[in-house]
Amino acid sequence: MDNQFLSSTDTVELFRQYVVPNYGRYSVNLVRGEGSTIWDAEGNKYLDLFPGWGCNLLGHCPEPVVKAVQKQVETLIHVPNSWHLESQGRWAQLLSERSFGGQAFFCNSGAEANEAAIKLARLHHGPSRYKIITFEGGFHGRSLATTTATAQPKYHEGLGPLVAGFQYAPHGDLEAVKQLIDDETCAIMIEPIQGEGGVRIPPAGFLQGLRQLANENDLLLIFDEVQTGCGRTGKWFGYQYFDVTPDVITLAKSLCGGVAGGAMLTTAEIAPSLRPGMHAATFGGNPIASAAGIATLEMIEQENLLDNVAVLAELFQSRFTELQKDCQWIKQVRVAGMMVGIELEVEGATVVQQCLERNLLINCTQGNVIRLLPAMNLTTEQANEGIDILSGVLRDLQA
Ligand SMILES: *Cc1c(COP(=O)(O)O)cnc(C)c1O
Repeated sequence: MDNQFLSSTDTVELFRQYVVPNYGRYSVNLVRGEGSTIWDAEGNKYLDLFPGWGCNLLGHCPEPVVKAVQKQVETLIHVPNSWHLESQGRWAQLLSERSFGGQAFFCNSGAEANEAAIKLARLHHGPSRYKIITFEGGFHGRSLATTTATAQPKYHEGLGPLVAGFQYAPHGDLEAVKQLIDDETCAIMIEPIQGEGGVRIPPAGFLQGLRQLANENDLLLIFDEVQTGCGRTGKWFGYQYFDVTPDVITLAKSLCGGVAGGAMLTTAEIAPSLRPGMHAATFGGNPIASAAGIATLEMIEQENLLDNVAVLAELFQSRFTELQKDCQWIKQVRVAGMMVGIELEVEGATVVQQCLERNLLINCTQGNVIRLLPAMNLTTEQANEGIDILSGVLRDLQA
């Protein structure tokens, strides 16, 4: 590769001077990606099993999305939501037809989608009912309300006073939820599978139990599908993986194939509670996001990627379960479609670092859970290559 890029070292220096240091970043300047492969400024090539922190569910630069955005950007970049935009309407229709047949509100991120859901729940039930129950280990975003909804004390430190009205239940504990519900409760909000919380799959019957409690107490059941949505689990949406229908789902991350975009979907009965003037997102459902969102859904269908997820998930499950037998560091393997969590007996940071040194990109969350969020169009060959590298690192690990 001819090198027209700033070196990784110089890029790090640029950040040191000019970028707010609120992220832990690797000292690598990434410059180009294609599918599950990505290159840095020095020309090093990596296999990416965590593309775009879950945003690049179709890999880097998926061709149909690239083409749709290129075409759109030459025609119309932005119009405000005071007008009608055919592609936004079409996108909403495609999402509705693949979910529970409702309506969409568009925004730009997961936090914004959850903000919309929180405001909808409060507006729907009037001013006397404002409490929302969320779950320990959950993650809902970084705005003040969604940080409050995130029941992890480490994210709250120094930020108080937080937004009133959020109550936390232990994940998987129906009885605790029941105890928290009172006549001021308006909603239950949960990720069908906790992502940042460590790829935590709920115990059998738990989500069904929440549905029942919501029905009995007239609460909105909100599924935060920012990570589980859009094909990640091998179904269009995570709720379909568990066969429980919520009243609201929120989407972002992979929604537009790597382009920024978010959405909240709810039923046509509940939707009017978010009445005109009560909520907005200036860039929500803009022409570029809409074009990318439509292209994403079409690509998943045309390339039968939901089927590919089932094949790959089986491969990850069987190979890591096999590895667990002769690797003392693996406590538990959790796989749901293209969400893979390997809980270790030890801290995972060195595993991530050693994989990086062997040109494999992965993630660690909650200190000891190795997390992979591979692209749906990963090949079996690439999956095996990644598993081989990670297995080697785990086998060689000295505690
Ligand atoms: C990433 C994530 C969010 C936050 O999304 P942003 O686009 O960063 O605001 C919310 N909920 C879940 C489940 C997530 O994984």
